[in-house]
Amino acid sequence: MKYRSLRERLDVNSALDADGCWIWQGAIASHGYGRINMRVDGKHKSLWAHIVAFTEYVRDLAPGEQVDHRCFKRACINPDHLQAVTKTINLERRRPRGSYKQGEHNG
Ligand SMILES: [Zn+2]
Repeated sequence: MKYRSLRERLDVNSALDADGCWIWQGAIASHGYGRINMRVDGKHKSLWAHIVAFTEYVRDLAPGEQVDHRCFKRACINPDHLQAVTKTINLERRRPRGSYKQGEHNG
């Protein structure tokens, strides 16, 4: 199928769910992230659907940034649910409470 634009392709290949998520209907990788095959500079590439959606609708990513889901649905490509985070922040947010090293502040 030919698409007039990337946005049309993202729209046609996603389905709105009850939370307002745009759930990717194309290929899904084993860890749950959507995949999209695209032509970049004349080469076929397999890219992450949510990152493609973010760079299309929001902005390009800076070096070291990755795209995180506010809705925690990995297959979601709704740009309103995506945010760019640096790797450090992403790890920080995922660290469970109380997992800081013990013994560093003992007088
Ligand atoms: Zn979502």
